[in-house]
Amino acid sequence: MSATLTAQCCIVGGGPAGLMAGFLLARAGVDVIVLEKHADFLRDFRGDTIHPSTLRLMEELGLLDEFLQLPHHKTYALSAWIGERQYRIADFSSLPGRCNFIAFMPQWDFLDFVAEHARALPNFRLSMKTAAEDLIWDGDRIRGVSATSPEGPLEIRADLVIAADGRGSRLRPAAHLDVDDFGAPMDVSWFKLPRKDSDPDETFGRIVPGRMLIMIDRGSYWQCGCVIPKGGAEELRHKGIEAFRDSIAAATPFLADRVETLADWTQINLLTVQVNRARTWSRPGLLCIGDAAHAMSPVGGVGINLAIQDAVAAANLLAAKLRGNALSDADVAAVQSRREFPVRVTQRLQLAIQNRVVSSVLAADKPFEAPLALRLFDAIPLLRRLPARLIGLGVRPEHLET
Ligand SMILES: Cc1cc2nc3c(=O)[nH]c(=O)nc-3n(C[C@H](O)[C@H](O)[C@H](O)COP(=O)(O)OP(=O)(O)OC[C@H]3O[C@@H](n4cnc5c(N)ncnc54)[C@H](O)[C@@H]3O)c2cc1C
Repeated sequence: MSATLTAQCCIVGGGPAGLMAGFLLARAGVDVIVLEKHADFLRDFRGDTIHPSTLRLMEELGLLDEFLQLPHHKTYALSAWIGERQYRIADFSSLPGRCNFIAFMPQWDFLDFVAEHARALPNFRLSMKTAAEDLIWDGDRIRGVSATSPEGPLEIRADLVIAADGRGSRLRPAAHLDVDDFGAPMDVSWFKLPRKDSDPDETFGRIVPGRMLIMIDRGSYWQCGCVIPKGGAEELRHKGIEAFRDSIAAATPFLADRVETLADWTQINLLTVQVNRARTWSRPGLLCIGDAAHAMSPVGGVGINLAIQDAVAAANLLAAKLRGNALSDADVAAVQSRREFPVRVTQRLQLAIQNRVVSSVLAADKPFEAPLALRLFDAIPLLRRLPARLIGLGVRPEHLET
């Protein structure tokens, strides 16, 4: 026998999209339950970027000062090194207001912070170690989800189910929502290396023929992402960890004295890059947001930003209707109408960079000239405001209306 819970909104997934949507809806008076299958938010690295748009949201919530008490590392600029030459790409300090930097912070600290504030609200419930298994249908309308929890099977009946269960979403296919897959020429191997005070103090990309290395300054260490050809992980392993270490040292000579700390492949995590978008984000009774609606390329590191922006838009558009028990299918569909444009534009830019720049760098076997756009950004400081806005704030940034 399943226990049954009811809520106005049941959110599946306690990632950036789900937790933020839960917090904002509950704050606006909606009775919310969030299901998260893990016991905590401690996960392997999956992006630690808190973008200026998210910092602005914290400011609009009156939580910015408290949030910035958490340990973090600020980055005001992004650059790329091609061979021995540095090209400055984005200047976040040009953004107006206080939130003119990217804060790097472990994602679990961010999620813990949001969860703590949400839990203080009487109409917010967070059910950890609870995995949604399937949708509950009533004709062609979704009425809730079935789940398993430590206490046994559970049914959650709700006016709206929000699927925020990430790129491997279980609920999206269960709702028969089709996805367009745009493909990617690369995967990314993530690992950490110690950082020294004498190292450059900036987050940057290092580009040499056949290799791209993303280096995120995390204070005491570098979070490194080695871009490899799609499906190339097996070949990389086959060549051995020593060859991998050598290739990192060859691409970034100042790391040569510490690549030895990579002792085996358990220290290296593979991100299988996916870029896709659901054609329809909703069904009667269900809405997909975040990676469940659109998995983003790692180009620009904007997946978390878009996931949180979806949550803000969903709360702005749906809170009053949910609270007043007056939610229509058109209200739910309006979230896609609002958010699909920013997602489309961002994915189109990411695909252009993937297909033109990343593919040719990975295929190159001799030194090449920097792309024109990079040379222009470096030469004309004013132009660096454009990538700063696109990465930091995104297309058509959302503001809190609840
Ligand atoms: C290695 C890696 C590095 C990345 N780097 C960056 C970066 O630097 N910057 C950036 O912006 N983005 C980055 N991303 C992308 C970013 O992590 C995602 O875009 C973002 O987390 C999407 O948020 P989300 O809430 O939609 O989904 P997720 O963060 O995937 O959260 C989904 C949540 O749902 C839970 N869940 C799944 N299924 C169920 C179920 N059946 N029942 C209950 N709970 C469930 C999961 O446990 C998870 O907590 C990276 C991703 C990876 C994997």
